Amino acid sequence: MKTLRPDVVIFGGGVAGLWTLDHLVERGYSALLLEANSLGHGQTIACQGIIHGGLKYTLQGVFTSAADQIRDMPAIWRDRLRGRGRPDLSDVTIRANCCHTWRTARLRARAGEIGARLSLRVRPVRLPRDQWPQPLHGCPGDVFRLDEQVIDPGSLIDGLAAGHRDRILQIDAAKSIDWEREGDGNAVGVRMAHADLNEAIDLRPRDIVLTAGSGNETLRTSLGLPPHAMQTRPLHMVMVRGGLKTLNGHCIDAAMTPRMTVTSASDDHGRTVWQLGGKVAEDGVNMGGTELIELARRELAAVIPRMTFSGLEWATYRVDRAEAATSDRKRPSDVQVQRDANIITAWPTKLALAPRLAERIAESLRPPPGVAPFPFDMLSDWPRPVTARPPWEMEQTWIADRWEKPACN
Ligand SMILES: Cc1cc2nc3c(=O)[nH]c(=O)nc-3n(C[C@H](O)[C@H](O)[C@H](O)COP(=O)(O)OP(=O)(O)OC[C@H]3O[C@@H](n4cnc5c(N)ncnc54)[C@H](O)[C@@H]3O)c2cc1C
Repeated sequence: MKTLRPDVVIFGGGVAGLWTLDHLVERGYSALLLEANSLGHGQTIACQGIIHGGLKYTLQGVFTSAADQIRDMPAIWRDRLRGRGRPDLSDVTIRANCCHTWRTARLRARAGEIGARLSLRVRPVRLPRDQWPQPLHGCPGDVFRLDEQVIDPGSLIDGLAAGHRDRILQIDAAKSIDWEREGDGNAVGVRMAHADLNEAIDLRPRDIVLTAGSGNETLRTSLGLPPHAMQTRPLHMVMVRGGLKTLNGHCIDAAMTPRMTVTSASDDHGRTVWQLGGKVAEDGVNMGGTELIELARRELAAVIPRMTFSGLEWATYRVDRAEAATSDRKRPSDVQVQRDANIITAWPTKLALAPRLAERIAESLRPPPGVAPFPFDMLSDWPRPVTARPPWEMEQTWIADRWEKPACN
C-alpha cells in the first residue's frame, strides 16, 4: 500500500471543491481532491450559471444580509473570466454578459430605484425598447439590464480542473473508504482502493475538507460527526428546446418576487435550450413531469406575452440544493464553513459565492508547512474523473409540444 501525506484532502469536485483546490494550491498547500462521481455532478452542472449580484435578495426594498454577502461577487468573477487573478477562468464559456428583468403587468418597475437606493454594485438599468431582447418585445412594462453574467457550468468545471489534473482522483463509490480517527476527533487516515487497480492508498492529511454538496451528510455520518448539519431543498426544473431566441433573466411578479428565471444554453446539436427555474421549479416538486410541463407552459405564456410554442420540446429534471441546516429551513444568507477537529464541512449556498467560500476555508486551515514537494508521480496510475454532462444531454424523455393554445392564467 502506498502512503502519502498531503496537507489537505478535499472530498467533492463541484464548484466549491475545485475553487478551493486552486485557492489552496496557490497558497502553497499540497492538496488532493477526491471525486466519487463526475466533476460537477449534482448541483453545479444542473445550475443556471448566473453570477448573482444581490438584486434578487432586495426586491422587497430591504437590504438583506444575503445581498450584502454576494454583491462583490460579479466583479470578482468578471476579473477571473478575463484571466485576471486566480483561478484563471479565461477559457470558460460566457453564455451572456448580462441578465434582464421584466414585469408581467404595466406597473412601474421599482427594480431600478431599489438597486440605487440599496447601493448594489450591480444596478438594474432601464432599457429603451429597441434594446430589449427579442423574446420580451411584447412585454407591457419596463425591461432592465442587469450586469450579472451567465456562465456555462460545464466549462467552468473544466476551467477550474485544468492545471490540477494530477491532484484530482476518482474514488470508487462501490468500495468503502476506511477512516482512521484519533481520540481528539482528528481524522488522520483515509484508506481507499479502486476496482480498476490492484492496490490501495493510505492518505495521511493534516486536514480534511468536505465540499461534496448533498454527499456531505453521508461523509459526515461515515466519520461519526453529529448528524443534521445539512438541509436539502428540492427543485424540479423544466427544460424547453427548439426554435428559441436567447433569453437570460428574471420575471418579477406584482408582489416583487421572482416569478420565473430563464437561462439559455446551446445543446450538442446547436439547439437553444431554456432552463426554467425559480417559483415554477419549487411549485413543481410534488408534481409529475407532465403536470409540471403544463404549469411551466402556462407560466411562460403569462410572463412572455408573444411566446410561440410550436415545434418546442419539453423535459424536466430533479435536483436538490444542499446547504447548511437553518432553523427555518430557508436558504442561509452566506457561505457555511463548519469545523469538527481537523474536518471542515462547507457549502457555498450559491455558485456565485464559491470565491468567498474558498477564502473562508483557507482562513480556517493551519498555514501550509512548506515541506518537500508532493510525489504526484506515485498517483499517476490512479483513475481520474470526467466532467458531468448537462441535464439536457442526459438520457431524457422529451415531450413534443402538443397543447394547441397555451391556457391563460
Ligand atoms: C437548479 C439549480 C440552479 C442554480 N442556479 C444557480 C445560479 O444561477 N447561480 C448561483 O450562484 N447558484 C445557483 N445554484 C446553486 C449552486 O448550483 C450551488 O450552490 C453550487 O453549485 C454548489 O456547489 P458544490 O460544489 O457545493 O456542490 P455540487 O455541485 O453538488 O458538487 C458536489 C460534488 O461532490 C461529489 N460528491 C458527492 N459525494 C461524494 C463523496 N462521498 N466523495 C467524493 N465526492 C462526492 C459530487 O459528485 C459532486 O461532484 C443553483 C442550484 C440548482 C440546484
